[in-house]
Amino acid sequence: MDEFAMGSDNSSSYYGTVQNPWNLERVPGGSSGGSAAAVAAGFVPVATGSDTGGSIRQPASFCGLTGIKPTYGRVSRFGMIAYASSLDQAGSMGRSAKDCAYLLQPMIGHDPRDATSIKYDMPDYVQDISDAEAAAGDKPFNGLRIGVAKEYFSAGLDAEVETAVRAALNKYEELGATIVEVNITDPEITLATYYMLAPAEASSNLSRFDGVRFGYRCENPTDLLDLYTRSRSEGFGPEVQRRILTGTYALSAGYFDAYYTKAQKIRRLIVKDFDEAFASCDVIASPTAPTAAYKLSDNLDPATMYLGDVYTIAVNLAGLPALSQPVGLTSEGLPVGLQLIGKHWQESQLLTTAHLFQQHTDHHLQHSTIAKETV
Ligand code: GLN
Repeated sequence: MDEFAMGSDNSSSYYGTVQNPWNLERVPGGSSGGSAAAVAAGFVPVATGSDTGGSIRQPASFCGLTGIKPTYGRVSRFGMIAYASSLDQAGSMGRSAKDCAYLLQPMIGHDPRDATSIKYDMPDYVQDISDAEAAAGDKPFNGLRIGVAKEYFSAGLDAEVETAVRAALNKYEELGATIVEVNITDPEITLATYYMLAPAEASSNLSRFDGVRFGYRCENPTDLLDLYTRSRSEGFGPEVQRRILTGTYALSAGYFDAYYTKAQKIRRLIVKDFDEAFASCDVIASPTAPTAAYKLSDNLDPATMYLGDVYTIAVNLAGLPALSQPVGLTSEGLPVGLQLIGKHWQESQLLTTAHLFQQHTDHHLQHSTIAKETV
């Protein structure tokens, strides 16, 4: 994974970069790219991941898997190293929606050791999938309203990704779903809000890695200041240091209101926009990422890498559940993912919607080059 879960392509992994099993020159996505690559290569049947701004869904999309980020508070974060505590949520990845359900089921529920894990109804995802399958006729999506927002088909969207996503939406319609137009917050505003709040929370969370209490400790410090300075300079990679610097700046006296407080206000508006959109639909569909897996050698500058998170981060800011499912391949044979966003606590609906789609299509049955050799 990317160091401290910060990144979208595993280029910042402390242990070296991860290759995409579909094409070894391509990135597996991130931050949970190692988990996704291990499943896509056929090394393991399922894997966990954490998703602060897309880190389950985007690697699932790049590696041709299904991956689900549950509602904030559904899975305990106890034992997870915090990145941005108000956004982090654990979830599952697998070859199919049903595999995700099997792994997610034992992960959910209230945990007294995590004050943000919420006491709520306990669905049985696998049972819900079976019930939906038993009830489904030849139009399994009759009555399902899928919201589509033009904001999610914005300028940077790759044409082949758009084609695969639109074809999947047509298939949903063919199987009974109704497509309705909705509006959500301009993704560029969401991106700026996320890249203010996530680093702010990260800078606070990572302050505990000071070489005294947690984390790497430098060799032979001359005094306390040297211990702190070198432990944190040597122990954190460039991307993590960049986020700590941005976050600390945003939280500093004098800038706090202009940046952090303002971003929190916009976060409220993002939640409100989703509430309004969900008044007329049951799920919202979008591409998971604007492109398929790109080449590691492209040497992306950070701001361009951040743009790749444009469709996934609003979900975390609003605490909603969302899933990515494979919907086809580009002409270069790289997987494309469709994101389904649900209302709070509606993971079952997302999993059953993806499962019923997978009953009628075979995108999730395609294998990566490596899996073909090993499975
Ligand atoms: N790519 C996003 C970031 O770098 C999301 C990471 C994540 O979800 N852990 O912050």
